[in-house]
Amino acid sequence: MSSNKVTLEKIVSLCKRRGFVFQSAEIYSGLNGVYDFGPLGAKLKQNIKNSWIDFVNKAEDEIVFLDGSILGAQAVWKASGHTDNFSDPLVDCQNCKKRFRADDIDLEKACPACGVKKWTDVRQFKLMFETELGAVSDKSNIAYLRPETAQSIFVNFKNVMNSSRVKIPFGIAQIGKAFRNEITPKQFLFRMREFEQMELEFFCKEENAEKFFNKWVELRINYFKKLGLNSEKIRTRPHEKDELAHYSKSCVDVEYNFPFGWKELEGIAYRTDYDLKQHAKHSGKDLSVFDQETGESYYPHVIECSVGVDRLFLTILFDAYTEDEIEGEKRTSLKLHPQIAPITAAILPLSKKLSNNCKNIYESLKQKGYSIQFDDSGSIGKRYRRQDEIGTPVCFTFDFDSVQDNKVTARNRDTLKQERISIDQVENYIKNLLEK
Ligand code: ATP
Repeated sequence: MSSNKVTLEKIVSLCKRRGFVFQSAEIYSGLNGVYDFGPLGAKLKQNIKNSWIDFVNKAEDEIVFLDGSILGAQAVWKASGHTDNFSDPLVDCQNCKKRFRADDIDLEKACPACGVKKWTDVRQFKLMFETELGAVSDKSNIAYLRPETAQSIFVNFKNVMNSSRVKIPFGIAQIGKAFRNEITPKQFLFRMREFEQMELEFFCKEENAEKFFNKWVELRINYFKKLGLNSEKIRTRPHEKDELAHYSKSCVDVEYNFPFGWKELEGIAYRTDYDLKQHAKHSGKDLSVFDQETGESYYPHVIECSVGVDRLFLTILFDAYTEDEIEGEKRTSLKLHPQIAPITAAILPLSKKLSNNCKNIYESLKQKGYSIQFDDSGSIGKRYRRQDEIGTPVCFTFDFDSVQDNKVTARNRDTLKQERISIDQVENYIKNLLEK
């Protein structure tokens, strides 16, 4: 008996079936922990990023954007502490040769894969991907694929201050790829080797840091709620003192209740002035800010909000996935917020004979920039199910009466309510949905 509960398997299967996400290099048996986003996935991902950009743009405090490089100089990662400390404890099973993160399993027990207890010693496994620049193989040519986007914000802090009119307090925001050689990539998009982050580093005076920290936690929670995530499945978990990095004064994880437990969705951290001071020390450059009021220079303190695009993508799918029954027939739908749904509306002629009569509605909405699908193949019931399954909030059905009365039936994905509206009101209907 299949249950109505959402599972990782159901999400993975939907993603492949409907073109959201594919395993990278699947035809060559795949690359572990690396994924490609298909036609609908690419749109959903872009909509998620746009929602974050919109959040940043509408923030009360000033925030500017940066698009830093993916290849990072050795010196940057040395100063940030990643070269020496960015590693996970690794252990191998000597019997079946499987690898595990030592903190994921109980070493007092047998190997979960083969049932034999024969562990190697635990050793540190470096998570950064290393590469070489240029043709000469030399240690000085080593560069790293960035494991987080934040460091390019810190190393460009002075460039941004000197080239724009920003003043403390202000933030620098960035969306970009990050790479981590995770020992055991798992749970689909939850832990990947190549992923994308949306990070905000907010610079302020030390005396205001706690206030801004609390403010950003609240703002970020509101962001997730506005995206439509079920508030009962979101919580904040402050880090215990012994979990905090030595430079961090407070840290809160925004967690989501996944089918595999409460897990971090976003990390919000008060990082003190650690990063700027580290880069000042290692580069020999003064990264302090002059305070006109006191006549003294100081190092701003930093609040960081960091969320993975892909992890949020997965969270949104889990949250939106719904199975119900309509007139005795099982239905799967994605209750996506209209602003992030890959397709905002579908135009469905009741019969193929009507296709030419309503193609213009589709064309005109498409030209105005809406994400619209036109579908005239299969029974109308089947077409509704197809749109429900990819999360399209509304379908407009053009029937034989439409030719006479210039009206279509708007059918709502969630309420299943059907209402007859005039064709010239279709765009307004969509606009209203998008404004919610
Ligand atoms: P975790 O404890 O889950 O490994 P972390 O504390 O190492 O996460 P951060 O370094 O704080 O993660 O990264 C910030 C955010 O980036 C995370 O909250 C998550 O959304 C995302 N993220 C981090 N690692 C991955 C990954 N391997 N795959 C997908 N997203 C990731």
